[in-house]
Amino acid sequence: MIDKKIDKKYLGMNKEELINHINRLKNKLGDKIVIPAHHYQAIEIVKFGDFIGDSYKLAVECSKSSAEFIVFCGVLFMAEGASILAKANQKVLLPEPTAGCPMADMADLQLVEEAYKLISKETKKEIVPVVYMNSYVDLKSFCGEKGGAVCTSSNAEKILDYFFKQDKAILFLPDYYLGRNTADSMNIEEKNIVKIKKDLDFETVGSLNEAKIFLWDGFCPIHLRFTSDDVKFLRQKYPDIKIIVHPESREEVVKNSDLSGSTEKINKLINESSSGSIWGVGTETTFVNRLAIENPDKIIMPLRESVCKNMTKITLPHLASSLESINEYIEGKNKLRFEISVDDKYKNKAKQALKKMIEIVEK
Ligand code: 13P
Ligand code: SF4
Repeated sequence: MIDKKIDKKYLGMNKEELINHINRLKNKLGDKIVIPAHHYQAIEIVKFGDFIGDSYKLAVECSKSSAEFIVFCGVLFMAEGASILAKANQKVLLPEPTAGCPMADMADLQLVEEAYKLISKETKKEIVPVVYMNSYVDLKSFCGEKGGAVCTSSNAEKILDYFFKQDKAILFLPDYYLGRNTADSMNIEEKNIVKIKKDLDFETVGSLNEAKIFLWDGFCPIHLRFTSDDVKFLRQKYPDIKIIVHPESREEVVKNSDLSGSTEKINKLINESSSGSIWGVGTETTFVNRLAIENPDKIIMPLRESVCKNMTKITLPHLASSLESINEYIEGKNKLRFEISVDDKYKNKAKQALKKMIEIVEK
């Protein structure tokens, strides 16, 4: 049970008081703490980030940090990732532990194990699970146990390629769209792709035996809102526009866009683009709005408004309370609140799957 209560005193403070207070605490705690912030976090939280990035960059940066307390401004699966990779003396805090991810909830371990058994019987090839970072520790552990690897939107192609080269078939979980878009970009033929539906029914134009990739049918509700009509509408309005989308979007949206990539890739490409350029961005709106503020010489707009409510759960009072809790804990005045940890029975295998991803990407 996570003890998470926000300190009441922070709810009564205005924004300026909160910012001053967080700055004071941050300075006091110094290198005992590190604050990773995902690109989708509110702009006032991002400003406190020691590093800001996509889920891959944050996982790697956290694993390199020697700070005793990692105050993760993101969602639960990301904080879990940091906790899996953390050293024995490190503690990971999530300032709002109810910040989940509906996609991560879409792959139930028992059902996945059942699917794995079923497809293993149907195919000659060895099946290896590739699990998107947007998943919980039990699924990552299953992935490690079966010799697979975690992937993120920034490296899915590299990870799939690694296993395809070993002539293995892949069970991709939980995001259908990231799996499908990556398979498309690698020119995997339609007949080699199988969708696993909720009732463990298989959908394919080929046979299970010739399948190269089995896709779970999870999705991100935030990215599913974007449609080809949104792309068409912006192109008609701004003929010079460049459309960039996150690969959790529908296949046709990705195909009709100019570019696709992780939040870090989107951030980099837009920041480095020439002054006066026009961008339509198919990803979370809080992030798109920040890009527009940070690039006033460019025209940047969302493909459609789509906010991830979980990502915006962390507010200044949450961050202040987390830092206060660390301060009181160090001074021996109180127990640590907001700490998240992962079940020991899953930790080692999940770590194997995460390390495998890092090994494949960084080699
Ligand atoms: P990134 O790894 O691209 O930051 O994506 C994380 C995510 O949750 C997108 O919805
Ligand atoms: Fe999950 Fe979608 Fe939010 Fe990303 S944007 S954290 S995939 S719900």
